[in-house]
Amino acid sequence: MRLDIVSLHPSMVEAFVREGVLWAAQQRGLIDVHTHDIRAFVQDAQGLADDRPFGGGAGMVMRPEPFARAVDALTREVGRKPYVVLLSAQGKLLTQDLARQMARQRALTLLCGRYEGVDERVTEGCDLELSIGDYVLAGGEVAASVVLECVARMVPGVVGRHASAATDSFYAGPLLGYPQYTRPRTFEGRGVPEVLLSGDHAKIRRWRAVQAWQKTLRNRPELLGLVSPRAELPKSATEGEV
Ligand code: SAM
Repeated sequence: MRLDIVSLHPSMVEAFVREGVLWAAQQRGLIDVHTHDIRAFVQDAQGLADDRPFGGGAGMVMRPEPFARAVDALTREVGRKPYVVLLSAQGKLLTQDLARQMARQRALTLLCGRYEGVDERVTEGCDLELSIGDYVLAGGEVAASVVLECVARMVPGVVGRHASAATDSFYAGPLLGYPQYTRPRTFEGRGVPEVLLSGDHAKIRRWRAVQAWQKTLRNRPELLGLVSPRAELPKSATEGEV
């Protein structure tokens, strides 16, 4: 799968893709990641990728032409139009299911905004306007990195047997993952649930299924359609209220 990221700060994404699962996937030829500086596609006399907003207001807006030129250049390079995604706090919320669908594309291009955002005509020319959460970042590079990793994990072969994606949260529906334990058997006075040491795999599967439901109910009841979404920072378990 070919992945292209167009940004004012490509080095942020370059550093990210040189580590971990993304780097391993590139080494094995499963994904092919390219970063591009949007300034390379600027053609106006001043060489600016941004300008003042029509209608007034604070900050600068990224101009549409460099993004359009970048997508045209990538279309020529890849030999087909990539699926184009604009990172934006105003977009559809990223889910595991969307990541799975994006992973089926042969070529995916991620466009990163900065400043006050991107001219709306860029959005109109994209296949998907995508948000990674209901908060605002300074730029699209961190969001693009999140999307890259999330999508790459859905490309067959990227996640090996040692870290199967199939037991992850959200993989097969809205449920969170079950709790995991490893050595030591006792940590700070707390043990490991006996069932996990029993060797009875049917029993372990049942226990994990119940735990996944309980954890979802406790931390994300809205996923089960039981209450409306809310985000409340839980109190620190060790420090109490500050
Ligand atoms: N004025 C914009 C708004 O109200 O939605 C926010 C612009 S933000 C400061 C600059 C850039 O960061 C955006 O163009 C987008 O590329 C990126 N960005 C910020 N928050 C994001 C989010 N939650 N998901 C994806 N991209 C985001």
